[in-house]
Amino acid sequence: MSPVIELFSPTTAQRYRQVVRATVDRTADRVAHVDRPTTSTPAAELRRRVRAIDLDAAPLGTDQALAEVDDLFVSEAVWFHDPAYLAHLNCPVALPAVAAEAVLAAVNPSVDTWDQSRIGTEIERHVIDWVAGRIGFNAGDGVFTSGGSQSNLQALLLARAAMPSGTPPVVFATAESHFSVRRSAQLLGLPDDAVVDVRTDAAGRMLPAALATAITDARAAGRTPMAVVATGGTTDRGVIDPLQPIADVCDLEDVWLHVDAAYGCGLLVSPTRRHLLAGIERARSVTADFHKAFFQPVSSSALVVRDPADLRRASWHADYLNPEDAAEPNQVDKSLQTTRRFDALKLWATLRAAGADALGRAFDAVVDLAAQTHALVAAHDDLVLVAPTQLSTVLFRWQPAGMPDDEADALVGPLRAALLAEGRVLIAKTVVDGRPCNKLTLLNPETTIEHMRTSLDHVAAMAADLRASTTATTGAAR
Ligand SMILES: *Cc1c(COP(=O)(O)O)cnc(C)c1O
Repeated sequence: MSPVIELFSPTTAQRYRQVVRATVDRTADRVAHVDRPTTSTPAAELRRRVRAIDLDAAPLGTDQALAEVDDLFVSEAVWFHDPAYLAHLNCPVALPAVAAEAVLAAVNPSVDTWDQSRIGTEIERHVIDWVAGRIGFNAGDGVFTSGGSQSNLQALLLARAAMPSGTPPVVFATAESHFSVRRSAQLLGLPDDAVVDVRTDAAGRMLPAALATAITDARAAGRTPMAVVATGGTTDRGVIDPLQPIADVCDLEDVWLHVDAAYGCGLLVSPTRRHLLAGIERARSVTADFHKAFFQPVSSSALVVRDPADLRRASWHADYLNPEDAAEPNQVDKSLQTTRRFDALKLWATLRAAGADALGRAFDAVVDLAAQTHALVAAHDDLVLVAPTQLSTVLFRWQPAGMPDDEADALVGPLRAALLAEGRVLIAKTVVDGRPCNKLTLLNPETTIEHMRTSLDHVAAMAADLRASTTATTGAAR
């Protein structure tokens, strides 16, 4: 007899216990033995293993299927908690949030209408009010979203709704701002040239005077400033646009200021660095990614607005979602999504378990580690530091003395790829000031400077190997 689908219900309470416990046990056994961010299994082999499974083949039953998940997926996972995982803005996750996620998976709430969530809506609203308070909004509002990209999209949607129609809209950002700003403009159907890159200083921060000029120029060209997007922690350099003077310009010009603090939001709880976000309370909307800087499992992000009325600017009413039942607070009116995860519970559990200061100290630790790592890179014979940071990224190139720039640039991509193929130290690459470079993003407060020394030595050794093999091949070809 083929297995039936087992559903979560009173009659399966015991099975739920067994299945989830066994699954948790396997994952715990795995993580206990992880000693590298991922494996060296070749990409083609990973694909072969997945494609070898016929999803129409005889089913395995729940227990077997989950053992297979462990064997197929968990054994090959990319582990963000590993001290040699240095690639992107991914964090190790807080245990209270992991456990809360397990509750969410089983209870399966959707925070769209009140009648689907009840106390869940109250909890999300309380967490949002707490975040708004940390930003410095007196009576803000907001909503959890799937991530910074969606938060930015919604912010720009609201900004456009607040703008008089008629003339073409302009969004002011910088070349360093997140690509989701341009992507959002495209999704909103704005003209191709709607996003203007305001000039930046040498560190990659928006120049307020250049912003003022750009706004004047746009008005002179018959266009209407729709929004200024300042970044509270750029993805590559981890630098913060000067929020106070930018807010001055926005106030004077009466333009919507959005602060994308997807990365830098950790500073909101930092016991020592909160001042780096001074002026964020003057924004009309703010993006915060808790799945980056608050050690939350994906997904966990919010869009927060200073004036609750702004959040209603783009709301849409569907009859079956009880729009006119004003006594029932419906989060769906504030969201771009309908069915929506109750991600707020994870942050709630984390705040209740460890408190905001612990989160802030953990974020401080990665910023401190980045400063130490910068010193390490600067002192390294063969590594060149490319740019400073205010947060936790490290931009560098492997370029021993005497190596021409184009040779160093050509190694950036192959170095990342070779390290990924090996699975011992994972790093990223990007382009800064027109030149490729490698990038580390530090978000693990338990990573030490000794870990960093070991990882950087490994990176440098791999680069030397690559150069040797490239030279050998080029030599042989001659
Ligand atoms: C990561 C990031 C985003 C996008 O957030 P997602 O959660 O990945 O969608 C937006 N802005 C900045 C500055 C970021 O670093």
